[in-house]
Amino acid sequence: MTTTLIKNGTVVTATDSWRGDIFIDDETITQLGVAIDRQADQVIDASGRLVIPGGIDVHTHMDLPFGGTVSSDDFETGTIAAAHGGTTTIVDFAVQDRGQSMRKAWDTWMGKAEGKAAIDYGFHMIMREFNPELGREMKDMVGEGVTSFKLFMAYPGVFMMDDAGIFAAMQRSGEVGATICMHAENGGVIDVLVKQALERKQTDPKYHAITRPARAEAEATHRAIALAEMANVPVYIVHLTASEALAMVTEARDRGVPAYAETCPQYLFLDYTNYEEPGFSGAKYVMSPPLRAREKQDDLWRGLAGDDLQIVSTDHCPFCIKEKELGLGDFSKIPNGAPGVETRLSLLHDGGVRTGRISLHRWVQICSTAPAKMFGMFPKKGTIAPGSDADIVIWDPEKVLKLSHETLHMRCDYNPYEGRTVVGAPEVVLSRGRVVVDKGTFKGKPGSGRYLRRAPRAI
Ligand SMILES: [Zn+2]
Repeated sequence: MTTTLIKNGTVVTATDSWRGDIFIDDETITQLGVAIDRQADQVIDASGRLVIPGGIDVHTHMDLPFGGTVSSDDFETGTIAAAHGGTTTIVDFAVQDRGQSMRKAWDTWMGKAEGKAAIDYGFHMIMREFNPELGREMKDMVGEGVTSFKLFMAYPGVFMMDDAGIFAAMQRSGEVGATICMHAENGGVIDVLVKQALERKQTDPKYHAITRPARAEAEATHRAIALAEMANVPVYIVHLTASEALAMVTEARDRGVPAYAETCPQYLFLDYTNYEEPGFSGAKYVMSPPLRAREKQDDLWRGLAGDDLQIVSTDHCPFCIKEKELGLGDFSKIPNGAPGVETRLSLLHDGGVRTGRISLHRWVQICSTAPAKMFGMFPKKGTIAPGSDADIVIWDPEKVLKLSHETLHMRCDYNPYEGRTVVGAPEVVLSRGRVVVDKGTFKGKPGSGRYLRRAPRAI
């Protein structure tokens, strides 16, 4: 059994900040103290550094078949990139195919991750349909630690379910103690707008955004919350982008409805004008929902500061340029998604903490603690406390990092933030007590990540 002592750091959790030491027995934090006087096999000096719980990204798509291709990071490259950025846990999405059992889908995704993942991982389950057999299986899935189900109100013919199916799946989710994750955009309306745009020969990447209006997101968000309220189940809106949609979440929360939402760094730091970059370059930013107007970003920041938005995840779903080119001449064929799993903590530290929009504690909360609590991983994950997994990041708050696909580790030949300089980056990253990244060098092992059996929701 290896013992580790992290000395002299400023430990920052969602609630506390103190200067001192952390003792780790093998994989687990066993002692916190101001000055721990014990021998350890490895000693890490964290003087002048922050010591934070490892990041938790509850929205990634590794090795996902989508849009006529497959996302370019698999569980090995994607989790190594995550670790470089200070993320030590991901919750990815397994996908149930029409006519297929969820057990089969879960087995498939377990197979994709096994022997590859370098950090711990769990799964949500995407349901494309609902029937009594799948209803029975939802309980089995909860038993396997898949305690959240994702439904879509967009992508007709691919992922979209109608309101009846959504409502039935929600009711069942409430019965089995699971949470509903919702992609909230009105897919029917968007389909009509897309067809009309293509008929007008409006084929450039920017029409992806123009055909997915903020009101289509707000309408679906409102409907998702209303359906969940009637079905008596908590609902978590994934990748919320529009202030109009945030207003729906805020209204529901003010009435005491268990409605939650995440946003993603791209919606805080990029905007509609990126689609107007020359040539086909706008395709790099094609994702759903799309980037919105810059002047609306303050609303998202206010939501994050005031807890109407609880989590920032990434929706990491990278495609290389040649894959994006499937949509040359037809924006609707551009694979939706972009890389992001590696840059979340640094972007939010630089653009959130250093600008005073959120506190250090709020940063830890939205990047680690809240995701752990929302999705049944707390207190094993998401904090620094005796008994918790030693998923720890030694964070250098002054480190200057230039973001570029050439130096980042995600398997993608572009980066949406290319050339942007951020301040604050991981120095050492530990996953269950093992150093996985040391000063920019990967020291971990593919396959050492463990499947997380997540708990049913507590409320
Ligand atoms: Zn997604």
